Amino acid sequence: MLKPKEKLDDLPGFEVPTDETAPENESQSNKKKKKGSGGFQSMGLSFPVLKGITKRGYKQPTPIQRKTIPLALQNKDVVAMARTGSGKTACFVLPILDKLVAPTNKPMPGKNFRALILSPTRELALQTLKFVRELGKFTGLSSAAILGGESIEQQFSVMSGKAPDIVVATPGRFLHICIEMNLKLDNIKVIVFDEADRLFELGFGEQLREIVARLPSGRQTLLFSATLPKMLVEFARAGLSDPVLIRLDVDWKLPSTLWLGWIYVRAELKTAALLLLLERVLTDTTPQAVVFAATKHHVEYLHMILQKAGISSTYAYSGLDPSARKIALGRFTNNKCSVLIVTDVAARGLDLPALDTVINYNFPATPKLFVHRVGRSARAGRSGRAWSLVAAGDVAHLLDLQLFLAADLQCPTQVSESGLACPSGVWGCMPASALEMRHQDVMAWERNYNEIEDAARVMGRGWQQYMKWRESASADANKRAKATTPPTLTHPALLDEGQRAVLDLAAQIKNYTPKGTILELGVKHDSPMNVAMKTMKKKHGKLVQRVRENKKLQAEGILSTEGKSKKKEVVRDENYIPHQASDQVTEVGMAVNFNSGAASASLDMGADSGEAARAHHNHMRWDRKRKKMVHADPDGGRKMIRTESGGRVPASFRSGRYEEWRKRNAQDQDDDEDTNANRKRPVSEFRPHWVKHNEAIANKKATASSKEFRDKTQIVKDRIRKEKIQQKLKHKLGNKGKGKGKGKKRK
Ligand code: AMP
Repeated sequence: MLKPKEKLDDLPGFEVPTDETAPENESQSNKKKKKGSGGFQSMGLSFPVLKGITKRGYKQPTPIQRKTIPLALQNKDVVAMARTGSGKTACFVLPILDKLVAPTNKPMPGKNFRALILSPTRELALQTLKFVRELGKFTGLSSAAILGGESIEQQFSVMSGKAPDIVVATPGRFLHICIEMNLKLDNIKVIVFDEADRLFELGFGEQLREIVARLPSGRQTLLFSATLPKMLVEFARAGLSDPVLIRLDVDWKLPSTLWLGWIYVRAELKTAALLLLLERVLTDTTPQAVVFAATKHHVEYLHMILQKAGISSTYAYSGLDPSARKIALGRFTNNKCSVLIVTDVAARGLDLPALDTVINYNFPATPKLFVHRVGRSARAGRSGRAWSLVAAGDVAHLLDLQLFLAADLQCPTQVSESGLACPSGVWGCMPASALEMRHQDVMAWERNYNEIEDAARVMGRGWQQYMKWRESASADANKRAKATTPPTLTHPALLDEGQRAVLDLAAQIKNYTPKGTILELGVKHDSPMNVAMKTMKKKHGKLVQRVRENKKLQAEGILSTEGKSKKKEVVRDENYIPHQASDQVTEVGMAVNFNSGAASASLDMGADSGEAARAHHNHMRWDRKRKKMVHADPDGGRKMIRTESGGRVPASFRSGRYEEWRKRNAQDQDDDEDTNANRKRPVSEFRPHWVKHNEAIANKKATASSKEFRDKTQIVKDRIRKEKIQQKLKHKLGNKGKGKGKGKKRK
């Protein structure tokens, strides 16, 4: 039975969202009702589903569940931006269970298969299947997984006859099964694309389109994704009907607890600056940091440098083996190392709740990417710091970002606090002498270690490639960047009080201008030189004064160097309503309609290696009519799909394995039939040598993996079976031996 509502509210780790729409003057009893109405019970889920939820131990829905489940229950198509860990699996599992148990959705005889969940990886699919079985424990619905790398014949037997109600599958194998078995998907009521961005990232795009083309038009589509690349928006527009976009987990506004620091540094000194910065920020209270780099070559180079500098680090980029990525992340989350170096692509879906510091070694190409990166710290009310290294080529991007964040850049002279008390948003430099020393170290490592020298060379080439595909800053920002004077003073957050005093004194000495000129030094009051200077001063004194004042103003206001006469800024009182809201640019990005919402929510990461960028570029061609690059169709309109072994075959290609299996199955049932006669292939099927080769490899893999993934009971059963066979053999042999012996004796 479900527990009383009052006791269900305080679920650790899950915030209870307040209903913002509730009118303020509501009576107490009404308020109580509202509070209760936020639970699973009020969503109108059927009893067996609610029972499953209680058994699983869920008390309150998570925010994403609150938003998504009611919409999904209304039969709406949903695109939800949610990460793993937000409770997204239940967002689609619960509505599916509810829909399939409804008497109105009873399956037609022999056509049970009504819900399909597509997952990018085997691990995720198995995890989802576990959820489906646990939450659907009392619904009586059946479920199965169709995964690549497992015996296809077993999957034939699962899908033939009375198929399961819910299938969790990886797209490649599912399509393969569809084609081989000529599976009809007309009965599908709900299809789910889980972690859709990864599905596309792993190259399942063709398979997904092919599967969607086979689905009935009346089905409901639910799409879950951590990010929304443009390709996915196009897919959603084409495949979903009037979808609702839910962006609960993605907030383009930075948390107020996040501190931002900008370091202006020459591009060639960036590595030295990173080392210095890490030395400062890695303390006992903030022992870990994530560093974002542009390409995988940067990641590899930086990892080597940090090792030499004695800073323990690990790394991840998109081309890395998934298990290596997992190990790297595991090392970092288990505090086995201080720094995680990643590219944007690799950092997708990274959930590091206790992260304090993010460092942008390479400045992000778009403001959204910046928010995506730095949003990994300062989560759940914690404070966090995000440092960005800004080279001359990044200033325009920085100015675009400031516009997006509706924030101002501050000069070190504008703040009085230093060290940890330094406010957010200041841009300054690194202490010059320390930076130079660190740079000497980096140069020495590059000279003395071949592998670092090579990595630096490759990184340089990678950078040139990266600059070709990096999104450029707006034209306006580029114009303003030219007129911007970069800071020359050390960032106050990198100074303590003593250093600050020394530097202030040095700056004062540097800025000191003696009242007299060299011509007036040590000369008599009435000397001709002195008299001549006095008359000149009288004549040009005011002009000199004005020029000096202007220079001083320019040095203080970073962005105000444009125009000769600087007007004083008008200070408006609080009743002044500006023509344009200060955060208008941010608000535009938060639109709720799918098309505009998706357009602003879409986030393309670009590639983190030359190969990936070239692969992307090869898929594009110039459309003369539309005057833009469009995705090219290399197959000339013919539907082609990629097989699990990587080759491309027509989408309608069938190898005949299913027919073969069916015949063999029928033959197994009928012992008397001749086995060889049944193995004949259909004469009409053309089977080139590579198909046979692929089949042989797949069979081998399937048998290997099925052996690998046997559980304890299966292994024990297998052993007992083998022992029995051996005993029987022994027994037979023994009998024969005895028989022979007897025979001889008789002779
Ligand atoms: P997911 O994002 O679907 O991978 O879920 C992350 C974790 O949150 C899983 O362990 C779920 O079992 C758990 N979870 C999901 N929804 C709830 C809920 N409403 N209450 C408590 N735990 C939940």
